[in-house]
Amino acid sequence: MKKMTAILLTAGMIFSLTACGKAPAEASAAAPAEETAPAEEAAPAEAPAPAEEEKEQEVPAPAEETAEAAEAAGAEEAAGEEQEAAEDEAAPADEAGPQIASAHLDQDGKGIDVTIDLSDGWSVEFAAGAFYLYEGPYSEDKESTAMGITLEKQVFEEYCEQAAASDSCRDLDGTLVYTADSGENCYLVRVGEDAFMMLTVKPETDGDAVFSRVKAQRGMDGLLTGGAEEIDYLALVNKCNALPEGWEDALDTVHITNSVGDDVEVESKAYLAYLKMAHDLAENDGIYTELDSARRSVAAQQEIMDRFTEKYGADYAAKTVAKPGFSEHHTGLALDLYFKTKNEDGSFSDVYYNEDMEKEEYKETWAKIHEKLADYGFILRYLEGKEHITGYRYEPWHIRYVDSPDIAHAVMDQPGLTFEEYLAGEAAPEVEIDLSGSSLYTEEELQDAMLAIKCEFASWQGKGCELHSIRYAGDKANSKQNLAWLNSLNEEAGYTQVAEFLMDYQTAADIGGAWEPDFEYKDYQWWLARPEGGDWEIVSWGY
Ligand SMILES: [Zn+2]
Repeated sequence: MKKMTAILLTAGMIFSLTACGKAPAEASAAAPAEETAPAEEAAPAEAPAPAEEEKEQEVPAPAEETAEAAEAAGAEEAAGEEQEAAEDEAAPADEAGPQIASAHLDQDGKGIDVTIDLSDGWSVEFAAGAFYLYEGPYSEDKESTAMGITLEKQVFEEYCEQAAASDSCRDLDGTLVYTADSGENCYLVRVGEDAFMMLTVKPETDGDAVFSRVKAQRGMDGLLTGGAEEIDYLALVNKCNALPEGWEDALDTVHITNSVGDDVEVESKAYLAYLKMAHDLAENDGIYTELDSARRSVAAQQEIMDRFTEKYGADYAAKTVAKPGFSEHHTGLALDLYFKTKNEDGSFSDVYYNEDMEKEEYKETWAKIHEKLADYGFILRYLEGKEHITGYRYEPWHIRYVDSPDIAHAVMDQPGLTFEEYLAGEAAPEVEIDLSGSSLYTEEELQDAMLAIKCEFASWQGKGCELHSIRYAGDKANSKQNLAWLNSLNEEAGYTQVAEFLMDYQTAADIGGAWEPDFEYKDYQWWLARPEGGDWEIVSWGY
């Protein structure tokens, strides 16, 4: 049974239910503070639309609000109730009378529903993609009588071969039973078209009786046949393109629990593809990935928007909460990854927070992950230097499922090509950047300011503008008059510093709104300011 232990350790510990309070080992204390993307529509020379530092996360700013909102964006609407109910059912059976426990186990995409009869005082524990059966009530120091796990097809077949070669092998109503080297009795059972389970029973226990207590049902057919037919796996959802109508009705998802205990909802096919990739990365590169978040419903996003509108007013809400309907996470096809590093004692530590994942020491890890994406039908979505097209800063963790390794390769094999450009059939021209000439700000500070502008520009790009160049306009813009002017535009901000940038961009011939069609806007001004110790905000733009 050594092999089985190895499977458990490398399978990414994917499970949908944890009972008896056995939480995953390295749970982090809290979700990271999620930041936000302003969703205001931009038009030239209009009233300023201050842009907070952009991140694709859906949620908000004020410190005391963050945890609550993060929760709202994540697990809240998920399987919470379901899980609680299942945990109740799985509790040790102290009372007499028939008692049934059931849970959905999922490991390596071969998930099954398991139903166990807990009459006569038996108890069960569901943890880490497996279940453990006990005679009598469960207690921490008690050894389980039997353990069941889901198996990958290939592993299942290997075991069946082993079983068939063993002298002790017999067939019990289509279930292969054999005695392993360890003396445990193994029950190998196919429980669905493509779902498999192994139950191992302690030698001294009546295995057939235990097996009859475990009724594994076909539970993963939906997952195994893969997602809904109706969704378009190439749908473009960004700050300019809303989630297609009817999407949420057609969407077929699965729920999993990650290593920090959060519920994560993912589109079914994307999840299967992710599992295969995660397995490959763990086996071949020693990289252990986890899912931070995937799907967020439009309704959940609307709730956050409503709460913020009520609490802080519509202006603030519009600036800090992403517009419901315009996040790729609505699709269920966008996955935010994090990963775990293996410690010397074999345990794992989560590398979970954005600022940790962005550290230099993990660049190589991300490169290895990115290298594998296309083979499994994923693309990296928010590329460095393409913020003016995607609307988001570089995010090594945000990947998108496109359901075709060929298409994924067509995007990923061309360095710097965004999904937007791929769908448009052409790459956007290079953007000239000049951030030189400041003795006031470091290059990093100017880089931050420029990224804010580029992210804002993405929605212009979506309306038919093409960015050509951005230049820092010089330290002279940081004058008393300019500071007073920008503070007068946003009275509560308390700005202490100003930075001006100049932009050249071209409009399309069929552009609408206030823009001049087919026109090169030159030296177009962008005015940014920041309060002491704060982030740059776009306060005004135009001529
Ligand atoms: Zn994301």
